[in-house]
Amino acid sequence: MGSVLWRSTVSNLVGVCGDRVKHISRLWILLAFCLMPVSSARAGRAPEIPLTTTTGAPVRIILFIGDGMGTAQRAAAQWAAVGFNGRLVMDTLPVTGWSRTSNVAGGVTDSAAAATAMATGVKTENGKIGLGPDGTPLSTILEQAQARGLAVGLVTNTPLAHATPAAFAAHTGSRYAMAEIARQLLAARVDVLLGGGENAFLPQWWTGHYPEPGTRTDGRNLIAEAVEAGYTYVWDAAGLQAAALMHAPRVLGLFADEELPRPQTPTLAALTEHAISILSRRPEGFFLMVEGGQIDWACHANDAALAIGDTLAFDAAVAAGLRYAAGLENTLVIVTSDHETGGMALSLSNNGGQAFAMPDGTPFYVTWTTDDHTDTNVLVNAQGPWSSLATGIYENTHIYTLMAMALTASPELILDGSSLAYPGEPLTFAAHFNPITATLPISYLWTATGQTPLTTPGGAHSTAGFTWPLTGTYTLTVTARTPEVTLTARRFIMLRHQWYTLYLPLIQKRAP
Ligand SMILES: [Zn+2]
Repeated sequence: MGSVLWRSTVSNLVGVCGDRVKHISRLWILLAFCLMPVSSARAGRAPEIPLTTTTGAPVRIILFIGDGMGTAQRAAAQWAAVGFNGRLVMDTLPVTGWSRTSNVAGGVTDSAAAATAMATGVKTENGKIGLGPDGTPLSTILEQAQARGLAVGLVTNTPLAHATPAAFAAHTGSRYAMAEIARQLLAARVDVLLGGGENAFLPQWWTGHYPEPGTRTDGRNLIAEAVEAGYTYVWDAAGLQAAALMHAPRVLGLFADEELPRPQTPTLAALTEHAISILSRRPEGFFLMVEGGQIDWACHANDAALAIGDTLAFDAAVAAGLRYAAGLENTLVIVTSDHETGGMALSLSNNGGQAFAMPDGTPFYVTWTTDDHTDTNVLVNAQGPWSSLATGIYENTHIYTLMAMALTASPELILDGSSLAYPGEPLTFAAHFNPITATLPISYLWTATGQTPLTTPGGAHSTAGFTWPLTGTYTLTVTARTPEVTLTARRFIMLRHQWYTLYLPLIQKRAP
């Protein structure tokens, strides 16, 4: 208020005086303004510079699929490894739901239809890979991630061209067209392809690193073509480790003619770890699908010992994923299955089933009702952005939705408010959390140069006020925290002297 008076008085004075006086008084006034104490400099709001700081956090999605892994398979592995009251690693994810696995016709699914549903959000017929029931090619979450600049990878301990990995990057009417699927996986330029099934990549007369010759009838050597296209080709654990250490951007790893023989080398956990280390170099983030593919095979054979061993190997791969995700923002991890296999049942009383013992010696027994897939729901465990939507019982297509949400609407934090102000002027800043997740409230922590840290509650929005007494450039940081994600936004604020803005209008007014 005082300075406004000052300015009008000065203007009037200048207006009534002669030219010479005007010139002298202008210098005098300028000098006076320069010497004015900063604290008295208050003349309305400083000009607003619209400036918004947004965190463009990378998106990371890791989907673990235990093929054929129903609740009994998980319980059997748990009882055998950590006992009746123990927990597998995959049991520790904070959100749990149920996936209904049936195919488009409502019948018992196969791995092709189930993987297509999870990869594309559309249920289809058994046997179809990445195609709708009418044969229309469907866009997959892997392709959508790729289109957004994310690195993408597929890992399995079965052949790479097998149904589950295939459905994420290939489109064929038959899951058994493995030579064509192998061609499509490479044509899709999936950055990391690790698994078995070398023979689908080699021509019939060619033997690669494993005894069986190739199965391709088109004479193409896809491994040679991959190397030509910039892939690093590896066939053992040491080669994979070297490729990861040497920052190879694209890696094709084929570790067997068909499925990886037990004991699997590299382990599914090692494959997962290296895939993540290669993919995570992409600043935009990555999508990775890891399949524990041989649980299903063990259950088709009604072999409980192998089913338990493979489920535990799969759990170790989940552990590798969680070790990477620990403390990392914006990383969605989902652990689920495509269907149950074998109708496995567990009992603590001896019913003539296959006998096992818990670590404390308590016996338990495994029986089977079929050597095929069943229609029972499978568990879904999740953590990270949008994982709160994994609660409940839903169709397997919902798993696609969760990933698509994380991919296309990853949470962001927008910080707005003044960027340019005068010392002593109270400033209000607003943080906007977008989009609102299902988990509220959000806690906001504000830290700024020369200010005491401040915590404010809020839903999608929260505000905080600050006043800086002195000129200078300050940093304001706000951190929004939900159980699923932590995001930070930052901006710089410049506080400057008022005389500068007073002087300019004065000159403009006196210009001829
Ligand atoms: Zn199966």
